[in-house]
Amino acid sequence: MKIDYHVHLEEGPYSFGWLDRTAKAINSFRQSEDLDKNSKEYMKWQVDALKNRLDKGCFSQEWLDLYLQKAKQLGLKEVGIVDHLYRFKETKNYFEKNMLLDENDPIGKLQSDWLGKVMTENMNDFTNFIVQEKKRWSEQGVELKLGIEADYFVGCERELAELLQNQPWDYVIGSIHFVDGWGFDNPQTANKFEEVDLKVLYERFFETVEQAIRSGMFDFVAHLDNLKVFGYKVEDEAFNQMWYERIASALVETNTATEVNAGLFYRYPVKEMCPGPAFLKTLVAKGVEFTVSSDSHFPDDLGKYTLVNTESLKSLGVERLIGFDKRERTYHSI
Ligand SMILES: [Zn+2]
Ligand SMILES: [Zn+2]
Repeated sequence: MKIDYHVHLEEGPYSFGWLDRTAKAINSFRQSEDLDKNSKEYMKWQVDALKNRLDKGCFSQEWLDLYLQKAKQLGLKEVGIVDHLYRFKETKNYFEKNMLLDENDPIGKLQSDWLGKVMTENMNDFTNFIVQEKKRWSEQGVELKLGIEADYFVGCERELAELLQNQPWDYVIGSIHFVDGWGFDNPQTANKFEEVDLKVLYERFFETVEQAIRSGMFDFVAHLDNLKVFGYKVEDEAFNQMWYERIASALVETNTATEVNAGLFYRYPVKEMCPGPAFLKTLVAKGVEFTVSSDSHFPDDLGKYTLVNTESLKSLGVERLIGFDKRERTYHSI
């Protein structure tokens, strides 16, 4: 069965690069070839389409319908839409407490600016919208699921639980995008990798991943080795293998799933799936359960590499994928 369980509708900051990427997404669904590209008429159509997209926002039927269109094209049967927790204004305190935001520190200043630009939505607008769209999707043969990608910070479990309560989630994803307050996947702060001891950094990262899993708060924990995003890795096989096994044990013991996530493969310098090949092998050998995801941020990327990754799981002996419904697991044979 074809599924994609980690799909975003939007993510700032809202640069011209973002606008250009949004235009590319809208254009890829344009059916009629009546206008010449690079013509004034085409530009007018494009600007109108972008204005419409901006006016209506990402929680609009028109935008979500592009995802539905793509899902039907690809024959996907289940699509899980998630949003990053930091997009919601309700989570301001949680992130302010846990991110490096010191205006006197170059990374702090950058991150403070970034947070202000991406925290633009209200959680209820998102959850109400997805719940309301489920029926329409179902009628067209695709199950729409509501998820959330929640940043985990050690020691803040109670606060996170409060932020997530009373919402009709089908599943909650735990993610690590920060080590000691530094958002390591931001290209603007990537030079920090040159300044730190990679082994110490990876240890901090994997410890946090392990604690996220052991918190038992998540249906699956995402992209288990995304710290490799810019290609900085520890070349000590024994060290890596030790961590792969520790993470695998934590997942199995807490009955937490993970994903094979294609985001870093097609969008970041490392060009590798999460988890990487050796990590994946270890997880499969230990009996960890998987879902698959494109980590798409635009409708034209929906489903990217999910089939490839399903096949690679199958070749390793995995017989089923995991889906979610109202925080219960569902099983889909491959
Ligand atoms: Zn993520
Ligand atoms: Zn994501």
